[in-house]
Amino acid sequence: MKTCLIIGGGLAGLSAGVHLSRSGIQTTILERSPRLGGRASSFIDPQFERELDNGQHIIMGCYSQTLEYINLIGSQKTFQFQDALSIPYAVRGGKRYSFESTGYAYPFNLSGALFNYQALSFREQLSAASFLLKAVLPFYKPDNDLLLSDWFTQLGQGKHARNALWDFLAVGAMNTKPENASALMFRELLRRIFLKGNFATTIIMPQNSLNESLIAPAMDFIRLNGGSIYTSCMVKELIHTGKGVIFPVLPCKEKVYDSVIIAVPFHSMYHIAGLDSIVKNFPDHVEHAAIVTTHMKVHGDAPLPRFMGLIESPIHWLFTRGDLITTVTSDANEIEKLTIDEIIRLTEKEIFEYTGGYKPQVLRTRVIKEKRATFIPSPAQLSVRPSCITELPHVFLAGDWTNTGLPATIEGAILSGYTAAQEILNTR
Ligand SMILES: Cc1cc2nc3c(=O)[nH]c(=O)nc-3n(C[C@H](O)[C@H](O)[C@H](O)COP(=O)(O)OP(=O)(O)OC[C@H]3O[C@@H](n4cnc5c(N)ncnc54)[C@H](O)[C@@H]3O)c2cc1C
Repeated sequence: MKTCLIIGGGLAGLSAGVHLSRSGIQTTILERSPRLGGRASSFIDPQFERELDNGQHIIMGCYSQTLEYINLIGSQKTFQFQDALSIPYAVRGGKRYSFESTGYAYPFNLSGALFNYQALSFREQLSAASFLLKAVLPFYKPDNDLLLSDWFTQLGQGKHARNALWDFLAVGAMNTKPENASALMFRELLRRIFLKGNFATTIIMPQNSLNESLIAPAMDFIRLNGGSIYTSCMVKELIHTGKGVIFPVLPCKEKVYDSVIIAVPFHSMYHIAGLDSIVKNFPDHVEHAAIVTTHMKVHGDAPLPRFMGLIESPIHWLFTRGDLITTVTSDANEIEKLTIDEIIRLTEKEIFEYTGGYKPQVLRTRVIKEKRATFIPSPAQLSVRPSCITELPHVFLAGDWTNTGLPATIEGAILSGYTAAQEILNTR
């Protein structure tokens, strides 16, 4: 039986593990941290007496590779699906708007959603519809080096339309403000979301935790298919014998494997000796954007929608699950510099102002700053993403930062793991 070592137990590593182990490859995953999931992980917080995610994650109906992964590991029932796209928004003062489509008459229902979205004036709605149409059609493909902010200007999207609609979508999906993001990448996302039918436009969320929905069932799947998983096991060196056989030098184990998938973040590659011939082709530096998440346990169930966007607030999204309120700021390099107390005060103030005066009795708080949440998909950075194939035979890369054609997302990570696994299966 062929063997494969996967270094890194984030979603990229788990996805590779799921695909390889179901195809009869004996798979071993080694993960540095005591828990799996990487940037999409959960942990038990004794103060909250429940599992918390390191950051609220959403996926979309257009995440086809993720949905296949969920199908394979059998965790569909742990997600909350929308029947049709529906995103509530609030503005300061508490007024609410909704970007909401019917579940039928696609694609006309999408223009209906836009023309019913009262946060935009009629003129802005018309202009946004024309932008969306141009963006998804083949003739308006922006140049590789065009920034999204410049594309918005070229296609007539003003400040207010950007604040109330486009920037929300762009920052939410790419964790980067349009001034730094590639227009081409945003267009690719719009095409994936809006050209593939109603379901592709919908939002899907884990009901309870990332662990329950994306991590634990994958671990079970891999183990049931003969694989092994070791946590608290950091790989420090790989030795390549030259015959396509890898001999990893590990604190916990030494073994020869037929192939290796390195599914660690970009910056962690430099901490594994023996990869010089791979990292020598890498850019010197990759720029990242932070995400700041605040969890609040409140007294009683919060009388708020399951989630809503806060227009022109430094807190972008608010999620509720019973007595748990979670807020998220994407592209958070500024907010990340605030102290924990300052972030909590800001969050409470924004909740108060955007809900028209809701002041929850806060029992517990937990602020999580993910400084290197995702790489910035600027035109320059996108042009140097490595593919999964490396200089070393039988050594492959996976991870949201590799060249998936997507921003750093769950879908990108899962796709990268699948792609690396396919390379191994194709050369079997
Ligand atoms: C707060 C936050 C919110 C997000 N929200 C969303 C969202 O709503 N929707 C969405 O699609 N995406 C979202 N993302 C992005 C998504 O979480 C990531 O793109 C994805 O999880 C990356 O997975 P990965 O496997 O590529 O990398 P990682 O999750 O970073 O996994 C890499 C793993 O490798 C391990 N490792 C590193 N070095 C070694 C070593 N030497 N030996 C062994 N193991 C090692 C690490 O410990 C880690 O577990 C969010 C990210 C964050 C941080």
